[in-house]
Amino acid sequence: MTARILSGKEIADAIKREVAEEVATLAESYGFRPGLAVVRVGEDAASSVYVGNKVKTSEELGLVSEHHHLPAETTHAELLKVVDDLNNRDDIDGILVQLPLPRQINEKEILEKISPEKDVDGFNPLNVGRLAQGQNALAPCTPAGIIDMLKRFEIEMRGRHAVVIGRSNIVGRPMAQLLLKQDATVTIAHRYSENLIEITRTADILVVAIGRAGFIRGEFIKPGATVVDVGINNVSDTELAKELFDEAELEKRLKTIEKRGFTLVGDVNPREAREKAANFTPVPGGVGLLTVAMLMRNTLDAAKTRRLKK
Ligand code: NAP
Repeated sequence: MTARILSGKEIADAIKREVAEEVATLAESYGFRPGLAVVRVGEDAASSVYVGNKVKTSEELGLVSEHHHLPAETTHAELLKVVDDLNNRDDIDGILVQLPLPRQINEKEILEKISPEKDVDGFNPLNVGRLAQGQNALAPCTPAGIIDMLKRFEIEMRGRHAVVIGRSNIVGRPMAQLLLKQDATVTIAHRYSENLIEITRTADILVVAIGRAGFIRGEFIKPGATVVDVGINNVSDTELAKELFDEAELEKRLKTIEKRGFTLVGDVNPREAREKAANFTPVPGGVGLLTVAMLMRNTLDAAKTRRLKK
């Protein structure tokens, strides 16, 4: 079997197109554009790239965006004040505090402070609780994007066995809740799960979010399954690359390692997954692209809920 490759780009482009259209309609009919505030503290290099992407995409889609870049020595109280001010502004619909935060700041308290109705990352405990109760809530962007993608590729979730490997607050846990909401039978696996292979082999839908390059081999996959690879890992080891890619892809990857020092690899062995699965998300070009698109969707939804349904 050769798996169908689920293109995240195709889905992300569709989501962004739809958001841009709705934003234009809102501006025309109601005279406002959704506002997104992104707060970054310190100089983390990866955060700088992520925030840049978020601000650029929101501008492309016609949203209004603000980037609050605070110095690394910002105190907990100062950051709380920034969040509080954004909570109180009517022109701001979504607030995102980019993680990780410097050590002097209590991340949990900051996330709790973001108003639930502006919590476009879906990390506030009230939204997490609503999601756990099966209510509609702003949900974390990566798993929400995966559900959207599965729907658009017409992959049945109702009644199917979905196995999620990983239980982080950002991916694994909300992923499991969202799959449950789609009426899947859900199993969550983690570091301490015994006989992982026995569990994954029964998965019709296997979502892998652990952060270990090529960890899930073909023998873990039920023939005909849908495999969603959330992992993003930098691989510089050419021997490992040889295990992960077929000849055509390998040549490209080895060139990338030579040029950049690493190539991006998921948590699933892509060569073996393509042979076993019916559907497979590639890395890069799969799930990674959905997150920012869903952030735009969440900001638009937050704006509509808060401003139109008051
Ligand atoms: P995380 O917070 O480190 O969580 C990893 C999870 O994997 C933990 O629950 C851990 O179990 C589990 N795990 C680790 N090794 C395992 C093993 N050998 N067997 C079974 N479970 C294992 O990571 P995360 O934030 O969820 O991210 C996971 C991956 O997704 C990373 O590669 C990250 O870069 C990527 N990611 C991608 C996107 C995107 O595409 N937009 C967004 C977020 C994350 P325990 O809880 O028992 O320790």
